Amino acid sequence: MDALQLTGRDRGHIVSLATPRCLVHAAVVEPFLAMRDAAARAGFDLVPVSAFRDFERQRQIWNAKYRGERTVLDRRGRRVDVGAMVPGKRVETILLWSALPGASRHHWGSDIDIVDGRLVARGYKPRLEAPEYRRGGPFAALSCWLDLNLRRYGFYRPYTRAGAGVQPEPWHLSYAPVSHRALPLMTVDLLMSAIRGTGVQGETEILARLPWIRDRYVMGVDTPPRMRSRWARFNARRPAMVRPRSA
Ligand SMILES: [Zn+2]
Repeated sequence: MDALQLTGRDRGHIVSLATPRCLVHAAVVEPFLAMRDAAARAGFDLVPVSAFRDFERQRQIWNAKYRGERTVLDRRGRRVDVGAMVPGKRVETILLWSALPGASRHHWGSDIDIVDGRLVARGYKPRLEAPEYRRGGPFAALSCWLDLNLRRYGFYRPYTRAGAGVQPEPWHLSYAPVSHRALPLMTVDLLMSAIRGTGVQGETEILARLPWIRDRYVMGVDTPPRMRSRWARFNARRPAMVRPRSA
């Protein structure tokens, strides 16, 4: 992926799937569909609610939160009024649950938010909140199946730790052979080139904190476990999948 692709400003690395309908990195198609088939055999309907998201979409989400037009939650998942916060605090609060435009793993197409489509078909509206994936929650059974099986297909969960940085997101899966190589390319300079003058609200506060934001919210993720799966090897043979920055 080049600089524009890493920051969601170009979609040359992305392909569109019809079933299930989603946009993902070209290298993710086969392992994701294989995992989805296996999940189907176990009785689940593994459906992406969000996969590739471009810079513009992330900018809209960010700006709506910054202006208080979209719900913002604190660390404990409670609604907060961002309008009452000074701009720096506002930026830090939004970052708990939303990526900075240009810094979202969804720009890479390697990361997918999933639900069990069986429940959605029966009218359940997913909120993408941790209790839905815990014991007793509607997606607990799928989550359990993923715990046991996702590594086999090269996937892992990058957000499992409470505390500093992004809060736990059990719905967010990442295809390690692509994302693990993309991560170190997310330099402060790259993020700055995506943010400066592109209409992201809170720009001054963001740029003043960029090294901190990168350390905490971009690099502060779980490392993928060692994988010896067929899908991990499949990708290791194709180093051209993730190219170094070219621009
Ligand atoms: Zn996600």
